[in-house]
Amino acid sequence: MIRPMAITVVGSMPVQPSTEELASGYQTGEDPFERSLERAVAAQVECGVEIVSDGQTRDTMVNVFARHLRGIRMKERPIAIADIEWKGSIALKDLERARSILPKGRVLKGLITGPYTMSKGVVDQHYNDPAELATAFARALNSEARAIEPVVNVIQLDEPFFSVEYPSIAKELVKKAFEGITKPKALHVCGDVSKVFDRLTEMPVDILDHEFAAHPGLLSVLKEHSFKQSIGYGCVRSDDVRIETVDEIAARLQNVMGITGHERLLVDPDCGLRNIPLESALGKLRNMAAARDRVMADAR
Ligand SMILES: [Zn+2]
Repeated sequence: MIRPMAITVVGSMPVQPSTEELASGYQTGEDPFERSLERAVAAQVECGVEIVSDGQTRDTMVNVFARHLRGIRMKERPIAIADIEWKGSIALKDLERARSILPKGRVLKGLITGPYTMSKGVVDQHYNDPAELATAFARALNSEARAIEPVVNVIQLDEPFFSVEYPSIAKELVKKAFEGITKPKALHVCGDVSKVFDRLTEMPVDILDHEFAAHPGLLSVLKEHSFKQSIGYGCVRSDDVRIETVDEIAARLQNVMGITGHERLLVDPDCGLRNIPLESALGKLRNMAAARDRVMADAR
């Protein structure tokens, strides 16, 4: 189901409901984010993305989950005030909607913000123990993973914090969050992972996804380690509006293919695209797909 060299996204897209849609939603009770989801999915499809996300247009990566979990009070930063528990699916409805508008041949990726990143994004007034807090999130997010598994083709856990500080319980957290999941599992860690890459290769996941455009030195790290996972190869920057040319991206793809071959590669931007203008995001995705097509045609 996950083709080598498939074009994907890390997840978020720079798409928001318009002021008019928000105002009309307020009056009619209609959900304006359903429109933004549809636009995010359509934009990905149009640009050649093959493993599509729902665009995560509703909120930031922490808040989008925090606000639906029991035990969290939403303030400027969410606060853990009681035992954290899953109280029903958070993204299932959006993913079903995304699935219903996906053309044949495109597959769907479900996004879950990882337990460690969730634990770093909330203020803890209940557990007073970082490991317990993160473990409670892992348990709750596992219920979410099980709920969305039937409608998605791959589930991705986003743990940007693993490149900032790597907790001793990292592997247990990922294992717990993915417990019982049989579909392909991806772990996205942005930032410079060169110091923790050896430990990431021990993760019980099928795909490791990292930022190779912002951290080209990671290529040599790939060379130095053996690993069984596929690599999500971030090949355009998500923090820079400049649209990389097809030539540039093709050269980056050739570089990594020289190390790993193409069978275990997925092609995507470094990170979520929510912080750059839509035109820039779309240009990057289009050029990425064109570069992939060119290097694969050359490889034949
Ligand atoms: Zn990221």
